[in-house]
Amino acid sequence: MFDNFYTYKISQYENGIFYLFFACECVFFLVRFRRNSIKMVEKVIIIGSWPAGHTAAIYAARALLKPLMFEWFLANGVAAGGQLTTTTEVENFPGFPTWVQWPELMMKMREQSLHSWTRIETKTVDAIDLSSRPYKVTVADNVYETESIIIATWAVAKRLHLPWEETYWQKWISACAVCDGGLPVFRNKHLVVIGGGDSACEEANYLTKFASKVTMLVRKDKLRASKVMQQRVFDNEKIDILWNTEWKEILWNEKLMTWITVVNNQTNEEHHLEAGGLFYAIGHKPATAFLNGQIATDEVWYILTVPWSTKVLAPGSEEIIPGVYAAGDVQDKIYRQAITSAGTGCMAALDAEHYLQTLA
Ligand SMILES: Cc1cc2nc3c(=O)[nH]c(=O)nc-3n(C[C@H](O)[C@H](O)[C@H](O)COP(=O)(O)OP(=O)(O)OC[C@H]3O[C@@H](n4cnc5c(N)ncnc54)[C@H](O)[C@@H]3O)c2cc1C
Repeated sequence: MFDNFYTYKISQYENGIFYLFFACECVFFLVRFRRNSIKMVEKVIIIGSWPAGHTAAIYAARALLKPLMFEWFLANGVAAGGQLTTTTEVENFPGFPTWVQWPELMMKMREQSLHSWTRIETKTVDAIDLSSRPYKVTVADNVYETESIIIATWAVAKRLHLPWEETYWQKWISACAVCDGGLPVFRNKHLVVIGGGDSACEEANYLTKFASKVTMLVRKDKLRASKVMQQRVFDNEKIDILWNTEWKEILWNEKLMTWITVVNNQTNEEHHLEAGGLFYAIGHKPATAFLNGQIATDEVWYILTVPWSTKVLAPGSEEIIPGVYAAGDVQDKIYRQAITSAGTGCMAALDAEHYLQTLA
């Protein structure tokens, strides 16, 4: 029983508050339950970051597509930041009259994506499922649904994993003549190119602009390159070829690369070769394994795109997969530069935007 009229009123008031709280909790629970049971479908998910991915993100965000980007944290031993993290200075990206250190360039791209309201998750995409729409993107235990996907996952230069490689990477050893050949450290030196395919011939030719001489180490007794590329090499007086030859050892003099030891794989004869820099041209590995064969690639796993677009094809057919696009090095085995990756990133976002308009 209530002592008096006032305690009765207070008790009624407290009960009222209790019921109000209870009602609010129920409403919140229902909202949360509904939100979890009906998954949000993204408009566009971008897999991979840096020149291609961030350019795609900036364009997609400005088209109000609210992009969600997954940037890998440590892919093939390379930190988030892509291939440019393996270099120091970038001298050929427009807008930086002298040069720019890669962290500055990378962070500026990332900042611009965030500033345009891109959501960035530092996580690796493990798989995608294109069997039905909306498409599914798997990241650890989470599955995201999306109307469209932009793949910008790169192609990594293969390395020989020589002793000293990590220590002297970019100082005396490189895998990109166009990027590094003009750096002071390689100028007027005798440079060695390892490889016998088209890239090796192209790298060797390019390096003759700066080097005093270029020697190609070719494992076989012939080049794998196309006839045109071979002829360019044979016609270039600054290029020598050592056939049936492989590297054996790099010799350093107070941390300066001075000589390498090479061996003839037919006779086992060894000899020293003066060398002021080493360029690998043994191919690239595109990061396409996670696609699990759902998209057409060429014989060395580069994604095939429809000419003048970033649209991709179903394997073994001419059929375009709607809403899926590829940008950057993962679909480019010719140019492989930051600026060309950025260009295709822009194309992919515009292609995705046009596609999404058709769904509206
Ligand atoms: C040593 C070296 C020096 C270079 N120097 C120059 C230069 O001076 N100038 C120039 O223009 N170009 C240079 N390049 C080339 C340039 O780095 C590339 O062309 C460019 O970075 C390619 O851009 P991208 O966006 O396609 O890939 P990247 O920049 O490599 O970025 C791809 C990103 O995708 C992420 N990723 C991959 N798989 C997944 C996944 N499953 N889930 C989530 N994220 C994923 C990776 O972690 C990475 O961050 C150089 C390359 C090398 C190797």
